[in-house]
Amino acid sequence: MARKEQVANWGNFPKLEAEVHRPGFVDEIRAIVKTSSHLLARGNGRCYGDAALNERLVSTLQLNKLLAFDAENGVLHCQAGVLLSDILDFIVPRGWFLPVTPGTRFITVGGAIAADVHGKNHHRDGCFSDHLLAFEIMDGQGQIHECRPDQHASLFWNTVGNMGLTGIILSARFQLKPIETAYIRQETIKASNLDAIMDHFEASLDWMYTVAWIDCYQKGTNAGRSLLIRGEHARLGELPSKWQKQPLQLKPRRQWSMPFYLPAFVLNPLSIRLFNFLFYHKQLRAVQKTVVPYDTFFYPLDAIHHWNRMYGKPGFTQYQFVLPKSTSREGLPVILDTIRRSGQGSFLTVLKLFGPDNPKAIHSFPIEGYTLALDFKMNPSLPVLIAALDKLITQYDGRIYRAKDACSRPELSRFSPLARDQKFRSLQAKRLDLLG
Ligand SMILES: Cc1cc2nc3c(=O)[nH]c(=O)nc-3n(C[C@H](O)[C@H](O)[C@H](O)COP(=O)(O)OP(=O)(O)OC[C@H]3O[C@@H](n4cnc5c(N)ncnc54)[C@H](O)[C@@H]3O)c2cc1C
Repeated sequence: MARKEQVANWGNFPKLEAEVHRPGFVDEIRAIVKTSSHLLARGNGRCYGDAALNERLVSTLQLNKLLAFDAENGVLHCQAGVLLSDILDFIVPRGWFLPVTPGTRFITVGGAIAADVHGKNHHRDGCFSDHLLAFEIMDGQGQIHECRPDQHASLFWNTVGNMGLTGIILSARFQLKPIETAYIRQETIKASNLDAIMDHFEASLDWMYTVAWIDCYQKGTNAGRSLLIRGEHARLGELPSKWQKQPLQLKPRRQWSMPFYLPAFVLNPLSIRLFNFLFYHKQLRAVQKTVVPYDTFFYPLDAIHHWNRMYGKPGFTQYQFVLPKSTSREGLPVILDTIRRSGQGSFLTVLKLFGPDNPKAIHSFPIEGYTLALDFKMNPSLPVLIAALDKLITQYDGRIYRAKDACSRPELSRFSPLARDQKFRSLQAKRLDLLG
């Protein structure tokens, strides 16, 4: 049974009244597809903007079964609505890990494929699609196709990164990576400005995971002041002895929750500036080495349920772009300065260095270069800032990430010819003029 409800993604902007279907079986999905003039699959709504919104939605959250696991070779077959968090609970104790993971584990496998997500290891391991062996997808006629990188290859590569516009992914098979422990050996390095942090990234290419947090309020020679966090899966011998007895088991982590939307005034330029200052200065040493549970390393924000309510009822947007390596050193300082001068600093500003892109993955976001992600609270002057940023991203040959986008101009997303099934559409595809 479908219900009308108000739906929004993680940024709580925009909101839409939609008819949401929650089928548990493939035949039910087929019946919905056949009787709909247009629709869209939806996973766990963890994209930020309007990519998972449409007047008619098919939630995949009931397609939540693990179908098969090859424990010797680390190949998992599951339905598309399974959450990465459930997969981790199953595979980590068995000595396996996700090949690529975003900064939250509360996304579905279908969402990971549709956005072709990247992690802190893009420079080493590429996107999710680089580890995807096969998936099944239902098209607008209700037909199911099994796609692999070299079988129904056109549908395979038109689906990854194309945000649900080719059909409903039903199940997937992908390769995992072996681990000895559930812990990460981590180093945090202080960098005094943007040039220094980029040098650290480029000197850390042999590290499996790298990411930096930037204080976007600094200017002049301090602009881009940041912390680089790099990590490797810890080997057994690298663990403190108290963890060596059960190296693949983690203690349940304490969960907090943001019970209500914070009033709009709490997050203001002053409080954001203070948070940024304290975050940088809480580490006293130039380099700090430690071993941490994998969830602390990959998913620090997941420890607080509903942290998105911190931005208040109007919601927020995450603006994530990538600039080619050739323009990054020139473009990033200009972009950071534009943001600082606007007074709309970001609570969390994250920088990563992407490795080479896969030329077959024509809709995927990453290209070789630096990607910056910033959170902005929705407010009446935000469109002016976004328009200025869009202009700069175009000038420096960059692109924006559709999984985060809620406000950008059409030109920035159309970086490859779009193929879609006429039946599938989203609010974002309409806004970005992708419907043809
Ligand atoms: C805190 C946080 C951190 C994040 N960090 C990263 C990161 O580091 N790297 C990164 O790449 N992304 C990151 N993301 C974005 C997130 O990984 C993607 O937006 C992902 O697509 C969300 O998956 P979902 O299951 O919630 O899908 P939804 O948000 O529900 O949908 C996202 C898109 O996938 C489509 N889709 C979902 N399921 C299916 C299906 N079964 N068949 C066809 N299409 C489908 C939808 O139509 C929509 O276009 C982050 C998000 C959050 C909230």
